[in-house]
Amino acid sequence: MAKIGSTPSVYQTVIQQFNRAADRMKLDPTIRKILSVPMNEVRVNFPVKMDNGQIEIFTGYRVQHNNVLGPFKGGLRYHPAVDIDEVRALATWMTWKSAILDIPFGGAKGGIQCDPTLYSESEIERITRRFTFALGNNIGPEYDIPGPDVNTNAQTMAWILDTYLATLPPQMRHQSIHVVTGKPVEAGGSVGRNKATGQGVVYCIERWAQDRSFDLTSATYFMQGFGNVGSAAARLMKPFGSTLVAVEDHTGAIANADGIDAVELTAYVAKHGGIKGFSAAAAIDHKTFMSTQADIFIPAALENQLTAETAPWLSAQVKLIAEGANGPTDLNGDRIISEKGIDILPDILCNSGGVTVSYFEWLQNKRAESWELDVVDSQLRKKILGGYDRVQGVADELQVDWRTAAYIVALRRLARVYKHRGIFP
Ligand code: NAD
Repeated sequence: MAKIGSTPSVYQTVIQQFNRAADRMKLDPTIRKILSVPMNEVRVNFPVKMDNGQIEIFTGYRVQHNNVLGPFKGGLRYHPAVDIDEVRALATWMTWKSAILDIPFGGAKGGIQCDPTLYSESEIERITRRFTFALGNNIGPEYDIPGPDVNTNAQTMAWILDTYLATLPPQMRHQSIHVVTGKPVEAGGSVGRNKATGQGVVYCIERWAQDRSFDLTSATYFMQGFGNVGSAAARLMKPFGSTLVAVEDHTGAIANADGIDAVELTAYVAKHGGIKGFSAAAAIDHKTFMSTQADIFIPAALENQLTAETAPWLSAQVKLIAEGANGPTDLNGDRIISEKGIDILPDILCNSGGVTVSYFEWLQNKRAESWELDVVDSQLRKKILGGYDRVQGVADELQVDWRTAAYIVALRRLARVYKHRGIFP
């Protein structure tokens, strides 16, 4: 199992990444000051009645980094490591993502510091509903729109939707269902949202392979995290003929050089809650997993997984890291990966399929439409490859690494808006 929460703090990593890009592009000092800090930080402590009748107090966060491009947007995470530093970092990355893809959203993120495995489903429901109530008007369909992230899913979004709508006058309820995205399709969600982040990762990998004449049919890859993002990406890699040779999640790591079937593993995880014990692969330790001999690594779990300690373990065979997770690589990891000559498709580009289809869901709700899957997929592909082209363009123009290029694409766009609008008063 991977170690998490190592230094530097995740928010320090974001600020270091930001400063590197801002220096390189000579970002206007005023805009630099504005974007260096989140606009709003909400922290709520709220009581929840447990199944045994006892009351527990939970702490939840919502950080709204920036909304100059549109309403605040970002997921909610339920995890013991959630704290203000992590949420700040995740909120900031959301601002860059929408700016790169030209989506009219700002950046936000939230979460509850808790281990959801310790609670029953009805307790999670009450925690979610009470958190929503505590957030009150800090969220809203035209103001701040939560979505799913680690340990939250379509069901979580349905509870938030129901609770939020219950606080509104009846006449306003139907027009407000875009207060959350990632809802179940029957409750106003979009087809294709569940797989959207994984789909975006795979569109990026496919494009990278085309540009480098790299044959995906004989490629091998390994993956950390087999939840929403990871498992969808693995299932979508299958038609290309690429072989999944190792997987790690919070229960352990497994390997099989002949291939791990993504569909079978998805069914196993749905039943057992993790990959541990999957009989068609052998258990391995974390260092062996990180040293897997394969062409592509897809981190799709948590932050700070590729660091000064772990990046040297990557085998000489690895050619690409496609970041499905947010912030899997810290600055030391970046440096080592670059010295090894490995390409990185940075998180703020590579995993932006989720926010893109969330935007489509939000649009469908506002227009009372439901799009077909082929429309969602083709629009997603167009959006994400548009971002890909812009990042590649800046990387070539300024001869910078792809993460810095992605930041510069985002910062240029945000800077243009601030320049037009000026600062009140
Ligand atoms: P998820 O809860 O569905 O899955 C998380 C996965 O990470 C699980 O397989 C879990 O076992 C694994 N994991 C947790 N702790 C681990 C550890 N210590 N070591 C190894 N594996 C561990 O969450 P998700 O939605 O798939 O999110 C995964 C990542 O993708 C996160 O960084 C998230 O912020 C990012 N992301 C998610 C979305 C989305 O639409 N869900 C969008 C963009 C980015």
